[in-house]
Amino acid sequence: MFKEIYETIKKFDKIVLARHVGPDPDAMSSTMSLKDSIMLTFPKKHVYAVGSGSSRFTYFGKLDKLDDMKDSLLIVLDTPDIRRIDGVKIEDFKKIIKIDHHPFVDKFGDIEYIDDAASSASELVLELINETPLKMNKEIASKLYLGIVSDTNRFMFNNTIGKTFKIVSKLIDDYKLEIDKLYEPLYLRPFNEVKFEGYIGLNLSITEQGVAYIKLPNTLLQEFNVDAASPGNMINNFNFIEEVLVWVFFTEDVKNENIRVSARSRGPIINEVLARYNGGGHKYASGARIKTMKDSDLIIKELDLICKKYKEGETREN
Ligand code: AMP
Repeated sequence: MFKEIYETIKKFDKIVLARHVGPDPDAMSSTMSLKDSIMLTFPKKHVYAVGSGSSRFTYFGKLDKLDDMKDSLLIVLDTPDIRRIDGVKIEDFKKIIKIDHHPFVDKFGDIEYIDDAASSASELVLELINETPLKMNKEIASKLYLGIVSDTNRFMFNNTIGKTFKIVSKLIDDYKLEIDKLYEPLYLRPFNEVKFEGYIGLNLSITEQGVAYIKLPNTLLQEFNVDAASPGNMINNFNFIEEVLVWVFFTEDVKNENIRVSARSRGPIINEVLARYNGGGHKYASGARIKTMKDSDLIIKELDLICKKYKEGETREN
């Protein structure tokens, strides 16, 4: 399928790359590195990376404004569902390619490359470049490295397999990546965020079956001078708490008039619960958007139930 994707890219003069709303480093990395690689390989093509920007991710490169999309190819990365594609309408494009590592949700691509066992969308882009005449340089390699590092939480999640280490190890050697220098933009954060993380740790509630949760109203975000995306960015740091199997943050997002839900698990499969609340994601890392804090109690209840079943051994994967 990589060959088919490459041949399709080759045919189009105008190519637009999109990813999901509320971008994370993997969404940014996979989009920007594929854009850079296409431009490096075919300098005459017009290639655009779209979606709403975030000041946190400027190191991945600049996003583009679109004018006329007639006769262009759309490549959607890291996004399984139509409703979460940021910045474009799929009807406007002549052909669509999807490259994703989430469990399947909507069919919208003429070509769909989905590998939900892959660590990240960045890993899939790396494979695409490795397996086709698409070109790579140190800058592209650095971006891809950061996307993979971020989505595997530094190779700690179980989406990391031997193959992930193999291709990343080759990437580091081939492009002489200085990984300590790369980490700074990804992990550097202001002191107020560290204090806010401390607040979360001090104020988490834990249910009987091991669901840790916290509700974060906008007034609190203002008090710590953090934004609605901040709690979701620190949720992975709450892994490996002995009493906790699933942990979930509910954050008021005044700008979008909803509540952002971010959930993680170190055992029970949680994406099916979040999918019932306008969300979804991976088995052990999921999110949702709900209208009011009232729904949060329903989500906590459902998560508590799946933890109970998990402990009783009913829902274990193996
Ligand atoms: P987050 O907690 O925002 O980092 O999201 C974790 C995972 O859940 C990512 O794979 C997201 O793509 C997915 N996700 C987050 N929010 C939603 C949503 N509203 N609908 C579907 N999937 C989501």
